Formats: sequence, C-alpha cells, structure tokens
Amino acid sequence: MINNKINDALNDQMNFELYSAYLYLSMAYYFNSINLHGFSHWIKIQSQEEIKHAMKIYNFMCDKHFQIKFGNISNPTITWTSPINAIQNVLDHEKIVTKRINLIMDIAIDNKDYTTQSFLKWFIDEQLEEENTIEIIMQKLSIVSDNKGMILYLDAEMNKRSE
Ligand code: MG
Repeated sequence: MINNKINDALNDQMNFELYSAYLYLSMAYYFNSINLHGFSHWIKIQSQEEIKHAMKIYNFMCDKHFQIKFGNISNPTITWTSPINAIQNVLDHEKIVTKRINLIMDIAIDNKDYTTQSFLKWFIDEQLEEENTIEIIMQKLSIVSDNKGMILYLDAEMNKRSE
C-alpha cells in the first residue's frame, strides 16, 4: 500500500534536486562569464551531483513501486552580484534542502516507513557534508574579501575538484 504523503514528498524532492542541478548549472555559467573558471568547474560538478541525488530518489521510488510524477522544473536565477553572493546562495539553498529532507524523514517516521527512513539516512549525512564544505568556501571568500589576487588563488583551488 503506497503512502501518498511519502510518495508526494519524495516526488517533490526528486524535482527539487533537479532544480538544484539547474540552479548550479546556471551559476556555473555566471562564474564562467566573470572568468572564474575554477569556481565554474566546481559548481558544475556540484550540479552533476544533484542529478545523481535525483536519480537516487528515482531509483528508490521505482524499487518501492511509488508513483513518479514528472513536474515542471522552475527557472533558476541567472545572475549574481559577486562570487560571495553566489556561494551564499548555494549555502542558503543547501540549508533549504536539509530542511526538506528532515521533513520527509518526519513523515516517514510518523508513518512507520522504515525502508524510507533508512534510505533518507544517506541524504541526512550528505547534507551535513555539503553544508560544511560550502561554509568553508564562504569563510575563505569572506577572508579574501575583494582582494583580486586572492580570489584568483581560490579559483585555482576550486579548479582542483575531481568529483
Ligand atoms: Mg542534493
């Protein structure tokens, strides 16, 4: 018996992960346009990660015989005022994702759906890692402020991301 509340929450989250991918791809384009190719590279990989998250939910929903509904993916923001403004947006966005995952966990607990609880555990751990990583980048950007040389140094650091 499919629980509609869990079904809808997972479906919405799959869509939101795809929206995250869209938002980060848009941001990659922004970084590219201001010649910060390392930041662009970093956020492009982040965008691909979000597609993997959506696919994780998709595969789980197929395994559990949930009903997938494909909704519209919202238009992402297309421009930001500065690198720190963009990265702050990533941090705010990931905090929203964390809240959403926690909310789905609440629903799974209320409905005694142990399989979904176990599945969501991975996302809860992943969100802690995501938020920490982005907070560190934010702190570094705050330290360098508008020192262009240091921003280029950070850009080279961001370019090292391989996965
Ligand atoms: Mg995600």
